Amino acid sequence: MSLNYEQVIEKYEPTLGLEVHVELNTKSKMFCGCATEFGAKPNTQTCPVCLGLPGALPVVNKKAIESTILIGLALNCSIAPYSRFARKNYFYPDMPKNFQTSQYDEPICVNGYLDVEIETDEGNKSFKIEIERVHMEEDTGKSLHVGGNTGRIHGADYSLLDYNRAGIPLVEIVTKVIPNTGKYAPQVARAYVAALRDILRGLQVSDVKMEQGSLRCDVNLSLSSIGSGKLGTRSETKNVNSLRSVERAVTGEMIRQASKLEQGERIIQETRHFLEESGQTRPGRSKEQAEDYRYFPEPDLVPVVPESKWIEELRKALPEKPADRRKRLQAAWAVPDKEMAAMVNAELLDTVEQTVLLGADATKARSWWLGEISRIANDRNVFPTDLISVKDVAEIIALISKGELTDKLARQVVEGVIAGEGTPTDVIGKRGLKVVSDDSQLMKSIEAAIAASPETAERVRGGNIPAAGALIGAVMKATGGQADAAKVRELLLKHLGQ
Ligand SMILES: [Zn+2]
Repeated sequence: MSLNYEQVIEKYEPTLGLEVHVELNTKSKMFCGCATEFGAKPNTQTCPVCLGLPGALPVVNKKAIESTILIGLALNCSIAPYSRFARKNYFYPDMPKNFQTSQYDEPICVNGYLDVEIETDEGNKSFKIEIERVHMEEDTGKSLHVGGNTGRIHGADYSLLDYNRAGIPLVEIVTKVIPNTGKYAPQVARAYVAALRDILRGLQVSDVKMEQGSLRCDVNLSLSSIGSGKLGTRSETKNVNSLRSVERAVTGEMIRQASKLEQGERIIQETRHFLEESGQTRPGRSKEQAEDYRYFPEPDLVPVVPESKWIEELRKALPEKPADRRKRLQAAWAVPDKEMAAMVNAELLDTVEQTVLLGADATKARSWWLGEISRIANDRNVFPTDLISVKDVAEIIALISKGELTDKLARQVVEGVIAGEGTPTDVIGKRGLKVVSDDSQLMKSIEAAIAASPETAERVRGGNIPAAGALIGAVMKATGGQADAAKVRELLLKHLGQ
């Protein structure tokens, strides 16, 4: 019998733990000079160090240490004056050295926190998520198991290995146990990963593309009966790679575990894999027997001993916190909460800000990016800035403000730029999109409209101002939308003695 979510939260209290892996965007790998670019031909970005050839010696990437310290500082961690790398031994073909160089009992950043906020029916709620540690390690290679039905190594005909990713700097951010989230656990998990992603993006230490795996989350979850005070056995769902999936993975695990407990079964401590299609998880490795990675200090690398002066310099260089920045922009632009949230959810805050910095009115910038341009982008399944540049949008908005384009004409300019017809000026020239501002030309259209609807004109003369709408509409139509409606209205009313 499977419980529904309402039944689960009536009886059980979830306890969360989140581990986030983030690939840094350094130009070279963690311990060698190989390039890190995504999507290169397999095994073209490798060398004796990242292939684990005998005798090759690693050297730590200073930029990676700097990025990790920045992450630690942004998460309110203490930076260890002394930390070390360790070897985590395991045998798997995606790690040619047969060990992963990581940090174990001496991580570089410890004891931080991150405040997250979620929207609920009872208003916004805040949760303080405590961070246990932030440590450095290296990514593994990628394996592709060909043949068989599952895409797993068992049953495959053969496996392909790409070591381009092996040795890319990876930072692991581990929370302490997150208690007392109750029914909000799925939302809190999602909000935490989203807030963390914003911070990492602000620090410019990673491209944080979850869909490409440069940010991925392991979700630890256990349930206890409400009031029992006893922590349950946890499962660990690996490599969840979108915000929505984080939320679904928590919900799915809560339902799965509660349904098992209801039937008197026990929860097995194991790693699980999230299934995108169903939102369920399937079992992976059992962790009933503790794995023995035989960690020991890496003898080929010196300890990391960052100077306190350097740490203080990095602290001073920290960018504004994303949450503070949002509050500041919202106040400056006078945006209601709901529209601010829409902008953040569409990930268009940076784009709108850049447009405003180029002189565009904030309200107009927001409505163009979130309206017309987003609509076309959604249809084509691309990001709005893939279609049109911030500079072009700022230019179009400036032309509207100067009265050289109406909204209707501007839509055609946007269309033209997206269709590859050139800059806004090119499109305006080629399509002949100019606002008709010549009064005598407009008066001809106005007189024609009055002649076509003499009764309406008579009503306006008699003081029925709203009736003018129909005449203005006729003029706009006759000029192909190239007239300024406000100007037409002014001329028309004056002409009819109003
Ligand atoms: Zn290399």
